[in-house]
Formats: sequence, structure tokens, C-alpha cells
Amino acid sequence: MNKLIELKNLTKNFEDQQVLRGINLDIYENEFLTLLGPSGCGKTTTLRIIAGFEEPSDGQVLFNGIEISKVPPYKREVNTVFQKYALFPHMNVFENIAFGLNIKKMDKNVIRQKVERMLKLVGLEGFGSRDVTLLSGGQQQRVAIARALVNEPKVLLLDEPLGALDAKMRKDMQRELKKIQQEVGITFIYVTHDQEEALSMSDTVVVMNDGEIQQIGSPTDIYNEPENRFVASFIGESNIIDGIMIKDYLVEFDGFQFECVDKGFEDNEAIEVVLRPEDLDIVEPDRAKITGTVRSVTFKGVHYEILVETSARTYMIHTTDFAPVGREVGLLFGPEDIHVMCRMGGY
Ligand code: ATP
Repeated sequence: MNKLIELKNLTKNFEDQQVLRGINLDIYENEFLTLLGPSGCGKTTTLRIIAGFEEPSDGQVLFNGIEISKVPPYKREVNTVFQKYALFPHMNVFENIAFGLNIKKMDKNVIRQKVERMLKLVGLEGFGSRDVTLLSGGQQQRVAIARALVNEPKVLLLDEPLGALDAKMRKDMQRELKKIQQEVGITFIYVTHDQEEALSMSDTVVVMNDGEIQQIGSPTDIYNEPENRFVASFIGESNIIDGIMIKDYLVEFDGFQFECVDKGFEDNEAIEVVLRPEDLDIVEPDRAKITGTVRSVTFKGVHYEILVETSARTYMIHTTDFAPVGREVGLLFGPEDIHVMCRMGGY
């Protein structure tokens, strides 16, 4: 895949507050890339710098290898869809989508063809003459996406575009957006603080915190191999435990030694271990090293969430096996369930 956008050591200060602290990121053609992180971590600022609405304090933005940090937004091959759809209320669906093309004084027949194509793409065929103010939130967002895509940008920037929709509509639109991205084959850069949304749609997830990138990877990498405590706790539920790497394939935590997969840590290095709740099984106490007492059981639909208190901590387990409160149980997991990461302070 070809590199389309490069962010090189981007920093951004607002007065005395540094909100981006050296962002380095390569974004590729046809990639669905998501900036994921808690509120205020700098996702929107990064997006606005790519769009050209904001200038970096330092660093560079390259587009196809050419520096564009000072190029105004309208000259960039980039379009943005915001959470607030910002449709023109006095125009119908067709006119909203055609707006940019009319400004360019494009031929009326070409405009009609392009708009019809977009309506089909976003599943709003036959909606052209509708009043946008009478559409549902999801439909309005589809119009906003069509309006952005009709200009045939190389990149579509989406800033929490589904934030205003209810849960069901959000899920539908997530599938829809992924499909649209695959059909048009352009780069989507998506901002969200919703980890499930990021994991389900993206080719690449960029986890940010406090103006810095914490990890870049595929959804499975980010979930299965978090590089630090922040990523592990932000993405899904996890049991995070301080431990020591005894040697290549042996780790110690909670007073026991366990076999793990060798990831090249130093002997005797202080590390942290992540155990995902769904990777832990509840067994008879004599079958496991770690044992404890069931303290709570919550039915979650597809599984039970069980909290087991041991002498060292409380473990969270997601399992379809029921175990009543008060029962003594063992916790079983395999070498591949133990994810070892560098120990870091501060979180
Ligand atoms: P959210 O998910 O809440 O939108 P975010 O990760 O997108 O958060 P940003 O909007 O990039 O975060 O904001 C990062 C920080 O920069 C915040 O502390 C915010 O208050 C600050 N900030 C953003 N824009 C400006 C501005 N124009 N002037 C001053 N401070 C700003």
C-alpha cells in the first residue's frame, strides 16, 4: 500500500497547554484508520491539522510526500464529516449533496449522475427531494457523508460522526460506513472515544492519550497485544498484574510461576501481565495455582461476569459457566493467555 499522509513530529500548543506532544504517523491509501482515546487526548486537534483547520506549532504534514502544513483546507484533497451534520436546512437532500458541485459550476447532468450515485452508495435512493429536517439522525448523517464523498476526496475525515445516534442506529451505521469505505476505496480517518467502534471498523487503530500515541496496530494486535497498561485498560476489560519475567518463557505473579510465550523480555525484568476476563476459566480449586472465592456474579447476556477474590487481588472472569457467590474456585489459563508488557508508571 502507498503512503498517503505522513505526520512528522507534530506538536500543538494552545497558549501554555501542549495538546500534541510529537505525533508520528503514516496513513496509507485505502486505509480505515481510527484515532482512539479519551476525551481531550488530542484526536480532534490531529484531525483538524490534517484538514488544515489548524496549523501545527511544530512538525510537518506531508500528503503524497509533499509538505502541506501551510496549504489552506479547500486546497487539500480532504473532506470532513462532523458529529453535527451541518446540513443546509432550507435545501432538500439532493441540493445538499449537490452543493459543492454547483459551486464548482459543474454540468447539471454530471451533477445529477454523481448525486444519484452517492444516494445509492449511502442507501438513500429515491430520497433526493426529501426535506433534510424531516430525516432521522442516521439518514441525515448519510446525507452528510454523501455530500463529503461526492467531491471525490482522497481522504475522508470523520470526527465522531455517529456520536449523536442511538445505540442501535450506531451499530447499523458502523457496518454501513465500513461498507461504504470499501466500496469507494479511499482513506478514512475516523475519530472516536468508543473502543468497540474502533475495533469493529478499522484496519488500523491509533490509541492516543494526553497528546501522545500509545500504540498503533490492527484491532487484534491492539486487543491481544497491548503494549502498556494504558492501552490494556482502555481497550476492553482486563486484569492487569505486576509481575517479574523469571526467564524467557517463565513469568511470576501473585506468588506463582507460569509458563508464557517468549516475547524477548530480559531475565528478572519487572513487567506487567494482562489476563483478559474471557481467557480465564473457572475450575475446581485443586486444578489451579490461583484460587479464590466468588464474590459477585452478573449476567451479561452472552456470559456471566464473575469477580473472584484471591489473597492477592480481585480477578474478573467472563464465562458461560455459572458459579454461585461464596464458592471456592480455581482460575485456569494457558501460556498464550498471559500477555506480558513493559511496566510503566503513571496510569
Ligand atoms: P474529545 O473526544 O472530547 O473531542 P479530543 O481527544 O478530540 O477530545 P481535542 O479536541 O483535540 O481532544 O482537545 C485536546 C485539548 O486541546 C483539550 O484540552 C482541549 O480543551 C484543547 N483545545 C482544543 N482546541 C482548542 C482551542 N481552539 N483553544 C484552546 N484549547 C483547545
